[in-house]
Amino acid sequence: MEKINILGVEVDRVDMKQATENCINAIENNKKLFIVTPNSEIIVNAGENKTLFDIIKSADMVVPDGIGLVIASKMMKKPLKERVTGIDLMESLLKYCNEKGKSIFLLGAKQGIAQKAGEKIKEKYPNIRLAGTYHGYYKGIHSGAKGSYEEKEVIDMINESKPDILFVAFGSPKQEYFIDAYKDIIDAKVFIGVGGSLDVYSG
Ligand code: UDP
Repeated sequence: MEKINILGVEVDRVDMKQATENCINAIENNKKLFIVTPNSEIIVNAGENKTLFDIIKSADMVVPDGIGLVIASKMMKKPLKERVTGIDLMESLLKYCNEKGKSIFLLGAKQGIAQKAGEKIKEKYPNIRLAGTYHGYYKGIHSGAKGSYEEKEVIDMINESKPDILFVAFGSPKQEYFIDAYKDIIDAKVFIGVGGSLDVYSG
């Protein structure tokens, strides 16, 4: 994939269609795909946070969530094609999952929100398999308690449900820390941090 360097962070020059197709390919070919969706704030944070910088660098696909990135890239020879926000990519993936009967796990947000978001998604997309949901306020890597008993239970729960896509909504960089640490031991194909999207879907 062609990349554009913005303040040291390599962003993929993909539009929504290509980003979705890359996810579909991963699901259909049984490969893991870790997606990060940075906006300008996250790019700036990555400049000050080496851990986050390295995680973004290691991601399989980095899509431009923020309009600031698209504007910055226009000053370069090969501008980014369009803004690809996490929530729009989530919607595009949900449509695909509905068409093909694929499964999703929703992890994150306050108690009850992921479940509510799941119910709303099922109303809109009845053919999706809702593998499971869990809130984002247990003790785990995102709260400085990596490897806690509860975190192991959450990972076991995801693994038992074997989702095609794991949506993680802890906000950045917490969601990226979680995915980076556990994607190798989690039985899912597409891993994406989606910030506050579960709050949006639940409303
Ligand atoms: N969140 C969570 N666990 C945490 C911190 C945040 O599940 O330890 C959730 C929060 O409830 C919200 C989401 O993460 O649903 C995104 O939070 P925020 O709006 O701060 O992040 P952004 O969308 O700006 O990345």
